[in-house]
Amino acid sequence: MSFESVRDREKSCLAQTYGRYQVALDSGRGARCVDVEGKKYVDFTSGIGVNALGYCDEGWVQAVTGQLNKLQHASNLFYTEPMIQAAQMLTSRTGMKRVFFANSGAEANEGAIKAARKYSYDKYGQGRATILSLRNSFHGRTVTTLSATGQDVFHNFFFPFTQGFAYAPANDIQGTLDMLTSDVCAVMMEMVQGEGGVVPLNYDYVQAVARACAQKDILVIVDEVQTGMGRTGTLFAYEQFDIAPDLVSSAKGLGGGLPIGAVLLGEKTQDTLGLGQHGTTFGGNPVVCAGACEVLRRLDAPFLQGVCQMGAYLRARLEEMPGIEQVTGLGMMLGATLSKGDAKSVSARCAQNGLLILTAKEKLRLLPPLTLTREDADEGLEILEKTLASF
Ligand SMILES: *Cc1c(COP(=O)(O)O)cnc(C)c1O
Repeated sequence: MSFESVRDREKSCLAQTYGRYQVALDSGRGARCVDVEGKKYVDFTSGIGVNALGYCDEGWVQAVTGQLNKLQHASNLFYTEPMIQAAQMLTSRTGMKRVFFANSGAEANEGAIKAARKYSYDKYGQGRATILSLRNSFHGRTVTTLSATGQDVFHNFFFPFTQGFAYAPANDIQGTLDMLTSDVCAVMMEMVQGEGGVVPLNYDYVQAVARACAQKDILVIVDEVQTGMGRTGTLFAYEQFDIAPDLVSSAKGLGGGLPIGAVLLGEKTQDTLGLGQHGTTFGGNPVVCAGACEVLRRLDAPFLQGVCQMGAYLRARLEEMPGIEQVTGLGMMLGATLSKGDAKSVSARCAQNGLLILTAKEKLRLLPPLTLTREDADEGLEILEKTLASF
């Protein structure tokens, strides 16, 4: 099959909402994949941080297909084992109390937003529903999570947007504390702003905001959709900031490649969503949760240590690479500012040269599978270096 025929067929029947790489992928193993013409790639994207264990990891495929051959779906009208196991692993490893499963990052954030507002409504009544998110954040594409997203470019076309969001200056302690007014029920933040350009929050900032929130009974929501599930070297990134959030959203890497989202509810919010007050048809799907269980099983302490080491290795190599000015990020979530060439053109040429790599704003962004080997890393970095030299 030729790439051109795939591209033309896509154009004829899919909504043209994406600027895709000029690559049509067909199969993969680990951090390697092959396109429809048989060309091979090293993959530093993992499907935007989703394929945590790489393409078609053996244990993961077995867990998923094993469940697929038993029971593919039951709905939330029934008990099924995989969702309970996944929730138990999430709660026991985080100290969070309860889990609500959804199907995507945006949906997980919707759930967290609903829980935060209801917690405040139950306790204080109306008029305390504002959620403070951070400027330059990204929280999803539904009308409400677009509202939560602190970037003006996302507040267009789809008016009217959901009310009750305000945007605080990330990493500006006083500027944020000044906005913790009596109408605020929650602060929502990514520990590393992913789509915003791989911008980490400062430890002191997160600490100060969390402390002020605790004093005012304002909930802390951490959006771990991109940073979670081992990506930054700990199961969730907030662990590295020594805070105990009231609500955590997870998605992307959680399913290892299948659509899933989760709201983790803490001490204060564990009983906030009561009978009939939130729901979903697909959430908690047994096949998807079997995949999540396998990902969670694999992300043990030695594995996470490996993520830290590989992250440090990638970072060091990038920092000394000609054409790269600055490296940001945490663990295996990295951003690179370029000294020449724009990120979009560089990533497109990388693809031509056999490396799949993401961008975020004006940076290159690396979200490789967490199982990336030294050999995969070196081969990908070599392609990147050669590509940068051609600009
Ligand atoms: C990707 C992402 C989302 C949205 O997730 P979807 O699964 O695309 O709905 C939300 N928050 C963050 C931080 C993300 O990176």
